[in-house]
Order: sequence, then structure tokens, then C-alpha cells
Amino acid sequence: MKDCIFCKIANKEIPKEFISEDEKFLAFNDINPKAPIHVLIIPKNHVGPVNTLSEDNNKLISDLILKAKEVAKQIGISENGYRLIFNVGRDAGMQVNHLHLHLLGGKSLTWQ
Ligand code: 5GP
Ligand code: ZN
Repeated sequence: MKDCIFCKIANKEIPKEFISEDEKFLAFNDINPKAPIHVLIIPKNHVGPVNTLSEDNNKLISDLILKAKEVAKQIGISENGYRLIFNVGRDAGMQVNHLHLHLLGGKSLTWQ
């Protein structure tokens, strides 16, 4: 999708080091990390945020969560634990309109 920053990353228009890449998903470090480990996992094809999803997206959503689990294992935080977050809309501070799952860890995370 035009003017979508994550589509540009997925299309390699913006150079980015990937933590993980397969045919469907990319994982890369957040540019403004909120924890020692802050990875974003995105579908390569443009998919809107959670508010736009339907049952048609069931497989994509479960695969996205399983990919996050795989990335957590790959980067060595499976045992200690981690947090997965979808921000949805204004009150959650959502900035990017391309579905993405935040993977946070690397310390004991607070909950507010
Ligand atoms: P949201 O608030 O929409 O759930 O999260 C979007 C995230 O994308 C933010 O944490 C922000 O720091 C991150 N982000 C925005 N633009 C870029 C970028 O160009 N590169 C990377 N690596 N992260 C980005
Ligand atoms: Zn996009």
C-alpha cells in the first residue's frame, strides 16, 4: 500500500536488518524501543490493524502469533518470558496502519 511505512520496509524500499524473514512475515527491531528487546512482527502483505480483521484473517493471525513465539525462542527470551501487544486505535497510541505485533522483553516488565 502506498505511503505505508511497513509496506516500504517489506518491499525493501527502506533498508532494514531483519531478525527473521519467511514468505509471509518479517521481524525487525522497533526504531524506538520501549524495552531492551522490542521487535515488530509484520505480515509482508498489507493487512490493516486489528479493528479491520475478520474471520477471513484467522490463519494469518494465528500464524503471526506463532511467528512471534518462534522469534522469542530464536532471540533467547522464551524461558524468561515476554509480552505480545497489538495497539488498536488512538487511545492505544497506534501509529502505523499495517498490522504488527510488538514483542517486548529482556527485563521484568511493569504493568500499568
Ligand atoms: P504502534 O504504536 O502503531 O502499535 O507501533 C508502531 C511502532 O513502529 C512504534 O513502536 C514505532 O517506534 C515503530 N516504527 C515506526 N516507524 C518505524 C520505522 O521506520 N522502522 C522501525 N524499525 N520501526 C518503526
Ligand atoms: Zn502496509
